[in-house]
Order: sequence, then structure tokens, then C-alpha cells
Amino acid sequence: MNERINLLLPDPGRRTQKRIEGRCWLGCDPEEMQAVTWIGPVTVRGVAGDASAAAYACDDCINRIYGMARADQYERDLPAHLLAARPRGHP
Ligand SMILES: [Zn+2]
Repeated sequence: MNERINLLLPDPGRRTQKRIEGRCWLGCDPEEMQAVTWIGPVTVRGVAGDASAAAYACDDCINRIYGMARADQYERDLPAHLLAARPRGHP
């Protein structure tokens, strides 16, 4: 049921990664219209049933997730004796 958010996926409707004017689904005010890029389909299960939509995000939020993913990947690749010295998520 759950699929990964893959920021490399092309927009299936437009076949392009060009930005459109829309709402950022990640860290921004959902009322703010700005330049956003398609990041993938989102399906959320709730009390009224499943809700699905195409999700978009702004460059700042995509870059933030990219930075977090890189940091997490870096920590996973560290030898165990170095990881033990600090809590996960704090480089
Ligand atoms: Zn954003």
C-alpha cells in the first residue's frame, strides 16, 4: 500500500519536471501558491476512507528532504563504533 516518495519521478501528466504554480505539500503554508514540482502520488487512509492526490513541493522543501536523506544515509554508512558516540539524526 505504501509507496516511496521518489523525487526523481517525472510528472506522469506532463512528462516534465518543470515547476508549476501550486501548493507545497511538505513544509509550507498550504494556502501559499508558489513554484512547485510534482513529487509523486500520495494516498492517506483515514476515517472517511482513502484520500489520494498528486503531491507537489517547493525547491526549499525538496532540498531539505534531500539534505536529511543524505545525512541519514551517511550515518547508516558509518562504522558502528562511530555511531555509538552520538544520537541518530544529529550529525
Ligand atoms: Zn515547501
